[in-house]
Amino acid sequence: MKPDYEQLLDHQRQISLLRATQSLLGWDQETMMPQGRGAAEYRSRQAAQLAGMVHRLQTDERIPQWLGACESDASLMADPDGETATNIREIRREYRQAVALPAALVEEFSQTTSLAKHAWAAARKAEDYAAFEPWLERIIHLCRARAECWGYAPGGELWDALADHHEPGMSVSSLLPVLNPLRESLVALMHELLAGPRRPTDRMAGVSLSCDLQRSFNRAVVEKLGFDFSRGRSDESSHPFCLPLHRDDVRMTSRYRSHLVLDGLGSALHEAGHGIYNQNLPAGDGLDLPAGMPLRYAVHESQARLIENHVGRSRSFWSWCGPVIRKHFSPSLDHVPDEGFFESDNSVEPGLIRTESDELTYNLHITIRFELERAMIRGDLNPCDLPGAWHESYHKTLGVTPPSDAQGCLQDIHWAMGAIGYFPTYTLGNLYAAQLFEAMEHALPDVHAMMASGEFTPLVQWLKSNIHAQGRRYNARELIEKATGCPVTAEPLLRHLRTKLAPLYGIG
Ligand code: ZN
Repeated sequence: MKPDYEQLLDHQRQISLLRATQSLLGWDQETMMPQGRGAAEYRSRQAAQLAGMVHRLQTDERIPQWLGACESDASLMADPDGETATNIREIRREYRQAVALPAALVEEFSQTTSLAKHAWAAARKAEDYAAFEPWLERIIHLCRARAECWGYAPGGELWDALADHHEPGMSVSSLLPVLNPLRESLVALMHELLAGPRRPTDRMAGVSLSCDLQRSFNRAVVEKLGFDFSRGRSDESSHPFCLPLHRDDVRMTSRYRSHLVLDGLGSALHEAGHGIYNQNLPAGDGLDLPAGMPLRYAVHESQARLIENHVGRSRSFWSWCGPVIRKHFSPSLDHVPDEGFFESDNSVEPGLIRTESDELTYNLHITIRFELERAMIRGDLNPCDLPGAWHESYHKTLGVTPPSDAQGCLQDIHWAMGAIGYFPTYTLGNLYAAQLFEAMEHALPDVHAMMASGEFTPLVQWLKSNIHAQGRRYNARELIEKATGCPVTAEPLLRHLRTKLAPLYGIG
């Protein structure tokens, strides 16, 4: 008979294979599946079937026996940050979460969110919040039920249980001391910039370029940055995303709109940041095991943000990319100098759409979503009142009001997917990215010169050794602290934004 640890790993590999299959079906649903309702209904049954199978495996009664034997074996647990102890710790965490949920709830959640995604897409297209509202009510109900099963720390609230599922350790009480002062500083900086004596010139305004040319251009840039297309692909979806099926099969998506060229490039860079992380995970036998998997989700997001913002929106990047983009779209962009792309990519504009927002206001979109979803989970906000609350928050924080719910509370897929307790990982990702990039500037003093000459390998290599190849050995805060030498704070992000943006607004 195999040792307990080996049996535990064999079992875990079966779970990983089914999970990757779930992800593949999710990818297919967003990219390739026929749009009719029949396909969506059939897919929801497939998704529920797989979710049930995964849940049965995750709650197998042999797991606690294997785990107990492993945890009491001092030789396996000797190095708490080693691969073996990491696998045992992570499998324990997953088991605890899975066994807390009744099978019927798991299948209902899967089936409902699969159908709700379809309903959301139709409601958004028709600008009809009322058509989506019953789905959101159902999802809030199911999320509350999941949270009740998982539980939360004394003094906490239901939202914490959902957050911890996505980002271990994240809770309202850990976020508020970070997010509240950050929001105040960002709102103050936004007003200061907008009152400045100049504005970045948007040389890309009114420019409309073929989506086919954008597709080939973005692919070339993403490949140059280090995304390996022999181990991944890029397709199109209404909401760009990246799925790590496996280190050697990474699926990302983009969207292209003729008049939003830099937006399309930014989103391609963002997903490539996720993709490169997935492709650089530790190689070898541990691939399907937790120690070899990426951290959820703020660290993942930090890798995307670092490539999208700290690389892709930098002056150094545009010194290299300016000539390349002009040549690719020649002669359409001949009138735009390198600095013109940089300025167009860095204007701060309080707007309606999160995914099209600038680096600064992006975080304000997140704080609004965090507050609204927290209120819905607490029962302080009824989904039928969401559009009104959304309008009020946007008006108060960003001074804008959506003309329709499609540009308001229907813009994001997350709640339709049941991803409540997720949005703040985006802002944590921004904080981590800024702190990591500062550390990288110290470690690689000529990183800007390298970017300006189109040399990205050392930068990606630094991320690979400090983040990607670490798998789940450390938790997010430990990993960022190890990579940067300091605890996580908002200062690097605020410094980065002020240093870059103030001169563009004529502020000394
Ligand atoms: Zn992302």
